[in-house]
Amino acid sequence: MSQPSPALAALLAQREFSDADIVALLGLSAAADIECLRRAAFALTTREVGDRVHYRGLVEISNVCVLDCHYCGIRKGNRAVERYTLSREQVIDAALWAARAGYGSCVLQAGERRDEGFISLIEDCVHEIRQRSQSASLPQGLGITLSLGEQSAETFRRWRAAGAHRYLLRIETSNPELFARIHPPTQRIETRWQALADLRDAGFQVGTGVMIGLPGQTLVDLAADILAFADRDIDMIGMGPYLPAPGNAMPAAGALASDELLQLALKMIAVTRLVLRDVNIAATTALQALVADGRERGVTFGANVVMPSLTPREVRKNYQLYEGKPCLDEARDDCRSCLANRISSTGRQVGWNDWGDSPHSRHFARHSDA
Ligand code: SF4
Repeated sequence: MSQPSPALAALLAQREFSDADIVALLGLSAAADIECLRRAAFALTTREVGDRVHYRGLVEISNVCVLDCHYCGIRKGNRAVERYTLSREQVIDAALWAARAGYGSCVLQAGERRDEGFISLIEDCVHEIRQRSQSASLPQGLGITLSLGEQSAETFRRWRAAGAHRYLLRIETSNPELFARIHPPTQRIETRWQALADLRDAGFQVGTGVMIGLPGQTLVDLAADILAFADRDIDMIGMGPYLPAPGNAMPAAGALASDELLQLALKMIAVTRLVLRDVNIAATTALQALVADGRERGVTFGANVVMPSLTPREVRKNYQLYEGKPCLDEARDDCRSCLANRISSTGRQVGWNDWGDSPHSRHFARHSDA
């Protein structure tokens, strides 16, 4: 096993990191150095959040979206997408399957909609899922994460009151100029940051994340992203490689080659772990689009959450935020056992029947769900 140089060993052992430190870690290129980074992040993950990987059963409720983010395959302007919205019963059935399968938590995700019909559908589904998933193994019912975009503070309060307790809203990049380049002018980074603050005020555990490898993005940008997560006291991180989507509106130039992109995405997970320490970090499915064992590699670099799909197979192909989404045809039972085997191959165990909240969120005791 290779040992880090004294300078790298000292850097990896720090508790506080400057932006220059983070850029240096993200810029590691020798395989032996990256392996030292990986080992440090994996060991810190075990110490700070334990040796369990938590499942969040992902229900992609609808691919209808009122926005037009340039990078996204289901943006409003992509006329080639066949649109769908699951029924209330389909959403609740998928979540109850997750509870029976021992997943502990689900994620309800959709394109962005702010109409009352959608807001009340979510409110109703969250309430039903929390009530009907209670059992001896899950006395409080399933943990529910929402990933439904920017909403009003009042909507966040309604969904929190219905029983959801975590919310993932990705900033995509903390660089205002880069944000403006990948979104239409109607979408503003200040509004996104305000929504993250509103989520905190509503009592949610707050998650965010960025795309890694955007054309024009630098290591300085990524270092600033990690420090922005820390500044805003974020509880959970969901970030993944930038993968061009079918029907997107981004220029093709400037995208990284897939091996370089994978390496950078894994280093981002590891360095985020070193800086933020006790948060939850997802090994996103987009990693698996780059390489078959991408999620497992994410776990070995410091991730502790995975999100197996529970979306009905007949509509799963229509929720493609990026090209090459894996597991489009897997039945959920197959996915459960396939993923459990994949997790054990990393030296971790699955945290069955457990909400798997990050120690960071518990530490501050702001989000109790009594
Ligand atoms: S990224 Fe989200 S908000 Fe933007 S177009 Fe896609 S689904 Fe809509």
